[in-house]
Amino acid sequence: MRIRTNTGILALAIALASTSSHAGFGALAFVGGRIIDGTGAAAIEDGVLITEDGKITAVGPAASTPIPPQAERIDVSGKTLLPGFINTHGHVGQVLGLETGHYDYGNVLRQLALYARYGITTVNSLGDDEFEGFEVRNTTDPVNVNHARLMVAGPVLAPDTVEQARRAVNGVADQNANFIKIRVDDNLGRTPKMAPEIYTAIAEESDKRGIPLAVHMYNLEDAKATLAAGADFMAHSVRDKEVDKEFIDALKQRDVCYTPTLTRELSTYVYEGEPAFFSDPFFTREVDPAIIATLREPERQARLRDSASAQHYKNQALPMAMRNLKTLSDAGVKVVMGTDSGPVARFQGYFEHLEMQMMVEAGMTPMQVIQSATSVAADCMGLDYLGTLEAGKWADVLVFERNPLEDIHNTETLEEVWIAGNRVPPAGE
Ligand SMILES: [Zn+2]
Repeated sequence: MRIRTNTGILALAIALASTSSHAGFGALAFVGGRIIDGTGAAAIEDGVLITEDGKITAVGPAASTPIPPQAERIDVSGKTLLPGFINTHGHVGQVLGLETGHYDYGNVLRQLALYARYGITTVNSLGDDEFEGFEVRNTTDPVNVNHARLMVAGPVLAPDTVEQARRAVNGVADQNANFIKIRVDDNLGRTPKMAPEIYTAIAEESDKRGIPLAVHMYNLEDAKATLAAGADFMAHSVRDKEVDKEFIDALKQRDVCYTPTLTRELSTYVYEGEPAFFSDPFFTREVDPAIIATLREPERQARLRDSASAQHYKNQALPMAMRNLKTLSDAGVKVVMGTDSGPVARFQGYFEHLEMQMMVEAGMTPMQVIQSATSVAADCMGLDYLGTLEAGKWADVLVFERNPLEDIHNTETLEEVWIAGNRVPPAGE
């Protein structure tokens, strides 16, 4: 099934776009920057980007792109503009500090604001979404918004019978979830794995309801089997062995996207010692020092060094995931940026930048990674009004001091985040 836009966001967008213009909204002109539009096209040097009422109306070289006289000029000379990043696999609302189970409106909105300050302007929350998340998704004004846009999947479905499976899908579908989410993984042999007749029933029912099915998988065989059953999105890397032609062909034939979530593997072991990012101001500026102090506790670090699963993810799963990423990317599979950030110690916002760095380490080019976090992600999420800096799209615009095409680490020079033409307030404002 091709993923289509079935979100409340779009319905709301159309409703609002067709009503009168919003107070306080006008035209903006970003002038003099290097514009990387997310499509893969070469950057426009000395470009102009015009927005009106939250949408992009024109993009082009300064010499040939007129600036409307009423537009407010924003000088971005020497800076680089990119579309807002889309995280195709996150989790929103559960974690506070290093504890889970704190789901409420405040936490959902706080985390969406955090993602936004890091330039992650859309988040696909793939599971553990509760009532308040659906409400935030449903009521987010696509024009007057300064936090990340949210998509939700509801609970991760784990039914025991085929009948339960069908009922569970319909329950989530009735709430107009953006995705159905399941796990087909025995967690290195520690937990039972969902049976084929269960996920097959879930896939059939999801397809009937027109909601794409996202699968958390680990093994190549499970990835292939769920794909054959009708899965629409591979929510993690294949980590047990090298991917093969059969898998690549199946992904391409069914137009299924694949998100590596390399930082998910990283998070399982990285706190065994001192992570390099603990001294990165781009990380520390948004993290409570008490959290870092807890993660530095020697007993905690020792437990991870002694953990067979952590060491397996570090030494086997992550290297395999990175190899497979390169193979799939080279084969033309639609790879999209996703992190599985949101659970404890998987830091929302920062981990998306780390993920992009790891994707480049795995062998993708910075341009490919930028596309995977923008146009390709929007395509895979069915968000045809986002993902590029082109006329007609929402004005989700990132401004960087230095060019991420030259070095992907330059995404950490993020200076300004705009969502639908609204400047996202920096931390503390
Ligand atoms: Zn997840």
